[in-house]
Amino acid sequence: MITAIGFEQKTVAVLGLGRTGLSAARALQKGGAKVVAWDDNKANCEAAQAAGIECQDLTRRDWSDITALVLSPGIPHTYPKPHHVVKLARAVDVPIIGDTELFARTINAIPKSKRPMVIGITGTNGKSTTTALLTHILRECGRDVHEGGNIGTACLDLPEPHAGMVYVLELSSYQLELTQSLRCNGAILLNLSPDHLDRHGGFDGYVAAKRRIFAGQCKGDIAIISMDDPHSQSICMSGRVLGKASVIPVSANSTLSHGIYCTAGKLYFSNATEVKLVADIISAPALRGRHNGLNAAAAFAAARHVGVSEDSIAAAMVTFPGLAHRMEIVGTVQGVQFINDSKATNADSVRQALGAFENIFWIAGGQAKAGGLSGLEPAFGAVQKTFLIGEAQSAFAKQLKGKLDTARCGTLDIAVAKAFDAARSTTAPHPVVLLSPACASFDQYKNFEARGEAFKALIGSLEDKCEQKRPA
Ligand code: ADP
Repeated sequence: MITAIGFEQKTVAVLGLGRTGLSAARALQKGGAKVVAWDDNKANCEAAQAAGIECQDLTRRDWSDITALVLSPGIPHTYPKPHHVVKLARAVDVPIIGDTELFARTINAIPKSKRPMVIGITGTNGKSTTTALLTHILRECGRDVHEGGNIGTACLDLPEPHAGMVYVLELSSYQLELTQSLRCNGAILLNLSPDHLDRHGGFDGYVAAKRRIFAGQCKGDIAIISMDDPHSQSICMSGRVLGKASVIPVSANSTLSHGIYCTAGKLYFSNATEVKLVADIISAPALRGRHNGLNAAAAFAAARHVGVSEDSIAAAMVTFPGLAHRMEIVGTVQGVQFINDSKATNADSVRQALGAFENIFWIAGGQAKAGGLSGLEPAFGAVQKTFLIGEAQSAFAKQLKGKLDTARCGTLDIAVAKAFDAARSTTAPHPVVLLSPACASFDQYKNFEARGEAFKALIGSLEDKCEQKRPA
């Protein structure tokens, strides 16, 4: 665990005692701070207290000795409306920060020659994949690399910093909003499309939060930015506003005269004097689809900045195992392939999956996000039929009317059964049943992981049934 420094002998309030809040409280205590923590959920307070963290109701407590409020990223501090404790902190001018800010201050306090490298990764989609891919590459290449932040381990629960190590941090817009002094030696912005708008007061607020990833960059650092959507592109082209970092454009949509791009499964590095093929990802099973071309280009640029040889990066990409619930190949039953893309909770990520397969029997629905399926029409060519589930099914059926053949299924078990029946009776080659919901899962499942696991369990029982029916 990292020791959060800068608050020795001071009192720090921590609001929210989930994974992030607990780690922040522990890291602060380790650094000699007095922590007073609170969570609206009584069970979380009890668990924290059992772990030696003092809990006090921050809505009733006197704030005169509190020097900072550490807020969990899930708790609103501006939109749709600030949490009551946030209002109290603002009323007495107590700074509001997140765990990534504590991490940043600790790293910044280390003499330059001994500081570890920090690579930050953000974007609407592809953060976890790119974080995991970059970590895999660096690990395969013998680097002392540690991944965390919005993925897996909270950043303050990562090992203590030392010279030569590399932290790869996935950073959400919520985390970036609460971070003021993070310096990313390499910062990746993968894409920008409308998401979490309620929390940022609209798209401009969301973009502003994402841009913060570049804010602390210095000379010698790199900003790796996608050219594939208009919003990221305009940040990429605006060069100077990013500070002192060198900009490396990346793309999976077009060739670039300067930067790293992916076309037909091949990665190219291009600058004023040369264009060279640097990696072939056609044979990388976990990097299918155009979107993964972009993720690979970004990871390539970052790994190169860390100092890994191009050949080693290329070799490591092929052995990347991929992440569960992101276009995960579950299995094949009676010639029908099943793909679990439960993490595709917005239209933009679904577009990638619809573009990666032919003859798709598509399961979509859940708790809809703003815009629903709009903008996906150009990707409908590969879809044979859609099987709708969850709260969104009526709205989606209306949205798809006249565009796609749809069936309202209500629940995932019915959708899987119907999609399998339709897929195995098609004459089209290589049918695929794809769960790519374009929705949050919370109407029927605890989270997208639970939805993906339920899908995989259903495929498991299909496999068993088909196995039993096979003649001896
Ligand atoms: P995040 O961590 O940003 O939510 P993930 O890597 O978990 O992103 O991927 C989430 C979903 O987004 C997956 O369904 C995946 O197919 C899709 N996706 C991954 N990378 C990209 C990308 N570069 N552009 C658009 N969609 C992507």
